[in-house]
Formats: sequence, structure tokens, C-alpha cells
Amino acid sequence: MNTFSEHIFCPEHRMYGNASEKIRAKGHLHPVEVGMRTVKLSRTYTCRGMEFDSIPLYDTSGPYSDPAVTIDPEKGLEPVRDCWNFNNGRTESCNESGLVSARGRIPLRAKNGESVTQLAYARQGVITPEMEYVAIRENQLLEKWISSFSSGEKHFTPLTPEFVCREIAAGKAIIPANINHPELEPMIIGRNFRVKINANIGNSALGSSIEEEVEKAVWACRWGADTVMDLSTGASIHQTREWILRNSPVPVGTVPMYQALEKADGIAEELTWELFRDTLIEQAMQGVDYFTIHAGILQHHLPAADRRTTGIVSRGGSIMASWCKANNRENFLFTHFDEICDILRSYDIAISLGDALRPGCIADANDEAQFGELRVLGELTLRAWERDVQVMIEGPGHVPLNLVEENMNMQLELCHEAPFYTLGPLATDIAAGYDHINSAIGGTLIAAYGCSMLCYVTPKEHLGLPDRNDVREGVVAHKVAAHAADLAKGNPAAWLQDELMSRARYAFAWEDQFNLSIDPVKARELHLASRAASGQMEENPDYCTMCGPDFCSMKRSQGK
Ligand code: SF4
Repeated sequence: MNTFSEHIFCPEHRMYGNASEKIRAKGHLHPVEVGMRTVKLSRTYTCRGMEFDSIPLYDTSGPYSDPAVTIDPEKGLEPVRDCWNFNNGRTESCNESGLVSARGRIPLRAKNGESVTQLAYARQGVITPEMEYVAIRENQLLEKWISSFSSGEKHFTPLTPEFVCREIAAGKAIIPANINHPELEPMIIGRNFRVKINANIGNSALGSSIEEEVEKAVWACRWGADTVMDLSTGASIHQTREWILRNSPVPVGTVPMYQALEKADGIAEELTWELFRDTLIEQAMQGVDYFTIHAGILQHHLPAADRRTTGIVSRGGSIMASWCKANNRENFLFTHFDEICDILRSYDIAISLGDALRPGCIADANDEAQFGELRVLGELTLRAWERDVQVMIEGPGHVPLNLVEENMNMQLELCHEAPFYTLGPLATDIAAGYDHINSAIGGTLIAAYGCSMLCYVTPKEHLGLPDRNDVREGVVAHKVAAHAADLAKGNPAAWLQDELMSRARYAFAWEDQFNLSIDPVKARELHLASRAASGQMEENPDYCTMCGPDFCSMKRSQGK
């Protein structure tokens, strides 16, 4: 593991610019300390009558951006949630399983008759440490600014733990936080909160190692991924997931069907409920925070899928369709759904109801198969809620922009306002090599309409397994999409960052511009490289090489 640690935890992970400082905001109700990143500005800017010489930013990088923390990937991150001691008395050790985590921790589960999910607590009006944590995190210590902010007719107030609790109780938001993932810094997914993004990682039978996958997870958080999904399908699935979880400050999701299929030697027809159930429990004890489960694809949907241009493009969906056809039986994820929920409730794992029938091309968008499955996902949502399980709904896929709004409206109506989590959607089929941009275009639109989380797409989509640089490109493209949607929804913290950036631009304050950017490293690199290439020697030029000194319109409009 030595080369592993040297490789992953290089100083680059901490390189946010000299003006950036890691801070921790303390809770009032619970002993939580919420990690944020403050950017010190080079001067004081006045925005809407308030003065700012720094701004705290929403930060997904966890301890990786904290120079005060020593990272040892063989030990994993500090189990920050353990000291909150919230579930004491309601949980028990799973001693009989024989499973011990990589850091020697015996997994926990709820005692018989106890419910430890965020949804169960919210329904009782109980504010958990996780609820307080996300309220502080979303406000970014900008309560005064938020209180003074309005957009159109809308006046804003800071988020409170009580509001978070109500949103979760109503099923409109989830906090994916398995009790066996103590390294997690909680986050919330819901349309009345900041739009979040997910990065998929995971090895395949054809490439990459555990080390590379852990590196990608850390790398994705460092660039802004709010969750990561481990979609490993090759060798060492259990160990890969274990190392990702122990080193991940963000929620980790999986598609348990992939590992179940490995256990069935890759033969879909030989999958059984028992094999799938045991896989769920294995992953639950490791600490997976949310499971994608394709329980909504039913036998009567299959003829419509067969008539499509690209059939079934979801891996989990195509596995279950093969199983249903070969065995001439209904999807066992549907017939055993209540048992699945009982397992998830014991560990507080959220269910992400998979869209097995998402359209894989523009021609299949919003078709009978897609919306037929969505109706079933709505019914399953109610069944999961009955068992105190937090739910989000997965969505498409490939959708032309004129059909995106219908997707969002149908999801809200059929799935009772549970959070929507979409892959893109990709706005065209012909952007191979640039599908991260394609996906960010569709993602921006659907998030502005109310989608809660965007699954990233990398430039390698449809072409190959992404490497480290593809992960960065994909994360940043979707971070732009999520931020643009936050602006469209009037999020006050998002607005402040843009206002400060505009003022820094007009002041030619280059360091502030870099540090307020979504990717400060690239902004700085591009600017300095173009200055060097053009021989520009001034320390703080009041123009850049794009227009040059004589044609800089911002300089000219200031009368310089
Ligand atoms: S030169 Fe053009 S791009 Fe550069 S700062 Fe001036 S107006 Fe902006």
C-alpha cells in the first residue's frame, strides 16, 4: 500500500491557492463541526450594500483540503460521526457476521424494532446531527447575506435544521448516511437545497486497479463531487469498495446487482433473490450509503423496450430483463421489495430507484417504456416510505431539450416529489468525446426545473473507462451545470459567488478571479500560460491577452 498512499495523496490534492483556508463551523444542537473552505479576497468588495473581504464556499473535499490533517489511506479517514453518539441504544453490533471493516470496526445495525433512518427521526420531529450538519453546510455561514437577499418576488431566509427535518419527513429530501460510514460528512439531496452532483467510479473487467479507483474517488471529491458511485464490475469488488468507503468523506452509492452477478459467474439467468439479499447485507455492513435498485422494470414493460431504437441501455435493467425472460417470472427485486426495504432500514441506506428503462437515444426519449416504469417507481416510493426508507428516483438518459420539462413534471407527479437524480440528460446523441458538455447542457435545464442531483458524464462516455483527467473534466462540467441551475433558482450563496467574481473581473483582481472559480487551478494555469506566451511582463495587468491592452473593453469602460 505504500506506493498507493504516495500516489493518491500528493500535495496537488491540497492545492486550492494560498488564499484558501479550511474552517469548521460548530453546531448548536449537536457536537458537529462542518468543514468549509474560506477564500480570502485581495480587497473588500461591496455587494448589495454589504462588504466582503472573504467568502466561505461549499466544500466537498473533506480532510483532503486540510493541511492540519495527516492522511493515512491504510487507516482511512477519521470516523467523525462516531463521536456524535446519536444512535446509542438503538443499534447493535453484527458480531455473528464475522465482517470487520478495514479499520477493525465491527459493523452496526438497528436493533429489532428500532428504526434509525433519517426519515424515521424526521417523522417524529427529531433533529439529528446529520440534519443540523447539512443546514449549516448549505448556509455557508452567509446567514446575514441570505436574510437580505431577494430574487424577483422571492425573499430568502437561512435554512434551519427544522426546515431540513420537515423536507425529509415529507420525502422531498434525503440524507444518504449509512450508520456504518462514520467517515462521512453529511449532505442533503432535495430540490429546495443546492443542486448536487455524483461521480461514477469503479473498475471493470478490462482495466484499472483498486489504487486507481480510490484515487479517482478522492480526486472526484477534490473537484466537487457531492457523492461517488462505485460501479465496479471486475475483480476485487469487495476490497475496492472497502477502501473507497474508508477514504471517502462523501456518500458512496453502488448498484449491488453488479456484485451479485459476479457471484453468479456473470450468468444473469442464475441470479437468485437469496444471492442478491446476501450481497445487500454485505454492502450494508461495509457502509454503502445508497443503493441503486432496478425494482421498477416489470415483465409487461419488455415488449415496449424491444420496439426501441437502442433497447435497454441500463446495465442493471438489461440484467433483470434477461432474468425475467429466461425464467418467465416477475422481477425478484419487485416481488421482494418489502424485504429489501427492511434491510435498508436497519442501516439507514437510501434507495435510489433505478431507471432500468431510461432512453438510450433521442429517438426513445419519453416513450411508453420509460414512463411505464416511472409509474411503478412512484408506487415503490410509497412502499419504501411505509418502511421509513429514504428514496430518490433515477432519471434519463438521452432527452432532447424540448422534452426535458415533461420529464421533471412527470417525475414530481408520479413519484410524490421524491428527489430526482438524473444522468444528464444528454441533449443529443452525436457528441462522442464531448458528452460531458452534452450532459451538462441537459443537466442544467432539468436541474433548473427541479432535479436534485446530476450524475456526471465524462468525455469517455460511450467510448471507454474514464481515467483521472476524465473524472476531473466530468466533475467540473457538471459543477458548472449545478451552479448555473442554483443561480436560476435564485440560490443566495451562488449569487454572491458570481457577484464577487464579476467585481473581481472588473477590478482586474486576477488571484480573486482564480480563487472564485469552480476550477481555480485551471483558471490560473491558462491565464499565466497565455501571459508567458505573449511576453506580458506586468505584475497585475489591467487587461488580458484575449483582447489585448488597446481593445480591453472593461479597461476602456473605466476610462483607463
Ligand atoms: S482584455 Fe478582454 S477578456 Fe481580457 S479582461 Fe479585458 S475585456 Fe476581459
